[in-house]
Amino acid sequence: MRRVLILLKSIFFVTIHTLNAQPIALVIHGGAGNIYKEHLPDTLEQQYEEKLKEALLAGYEILHRGGNSIDAVQAAINMMEDSPLFNAGKGSVFTSAATNEMDAAVMDGRTLNAGAVAGVKHIKNPINAAIEVMEFSPHVMLTGAGAEEFAQSRGLEIVDEKYFYTEKRFRQLQSAKKREQTQGLNTTQERNYKFGTVGAVALDKSGNIVAGTSTGGMTNKKYGRVGDAPIIGAGTYANNLTCGISATGHGEYFIRSVVAHDISALMEYKGLTIQEAADMVIHKKLKQLGGEGGVVGLDAKANIVMSFNSNGMFRGFIKEGEAPKVYIFKSE
Ligand code: ASP
Repeated sequence: MRRVLILLKSIFFVTIHTLNAQPIALVIHGGAGNIYKEHLPDTLEQQYEEKLKEALLAGYEILHRGGNSIDAVQAAINMMEDSPLFNAGKGSVFTSAATNEMDAAVMDGRTLNAGAVAGVKHIKNPINAAIEVMEFSPHVMLTGAGAEEFAQSRGLEIVDEKYFYTEKRFRQLQSAKKREQTQGLNTTQERNYKFGTVGAVALDKSGNIVAGTSTGGMTNKKYGRVGDAPIIGAGTYANNLTCGISATGHGEYFIRSVVAHDISALMEYKGLTIQEAADMVIHKKLKQLGGEGGVVGLDAKANIVMSFNSNGMFRGFIKEGEAPKVYIFKSE
């Protein structure tokens, strides 16, 4: 009898623990745009899928062993920044002046602290600089040379501009310039543009949500143009009461629509679910304005959203005890 009681007691505690256990989750994107299966060679498709899975597992490993969301977001984003496949860090697109100028931001949903850098040219992993700004500076956004001086003072890896050169991105700049000459269009007016920004949103065992985004911006951008990624509320936002969001797409529209915060506000003030809120902003409000792209995000209960109005978005998520799931095209 005593044994039965002990057994029942342990079953009771395990059940209660499981019911109360804070779920962990991580969702990422590697850019949205006109991505068609017919135009993406199988080998490249495989490379994207593998890298997305690697990034998910790098972040998940941290969350699984009780680490925090900031570290998980950083690990996942670093993995994509270091890969030439994405428009962030190593694979960043070129400006009109043939330089690489990167933007990044991070936000902590518990404290509503945030950090961002814009127009940096020598920081190997811009998301790391954004995290340092959030944690070790009294400011929210640092730009250009000042941001780099701060990053260096925090011991971050500084690299020569050559590190960011990739032939593929350089060729993209040449053809963008040609189209600009012949059709008078700059990239921000082009249809069929592929966005390659990377982003991650994590929920850790303490229930904290963190969102981060890192990008090279848009090909052929001019005059120190800054996109939505480093602007808190536009391309990046986190609030434990609602959700964490990271965006990719035509930055100018995301800034004007204050996309990430708008999704959070719809949840907070209108009681929408994260899916309803994201769909309303991405498929209605942003679309009406003419903006293309998408978001990934999650809420405190680990509900995941991956909403986009373009033909594809490199994306994926992982939850406790599950294998990573990654997708590229629209109909997946
Ligand atoms: N949103 C980024 C920007 O406008 C571009 C991207 O998503 O690739 O700078």
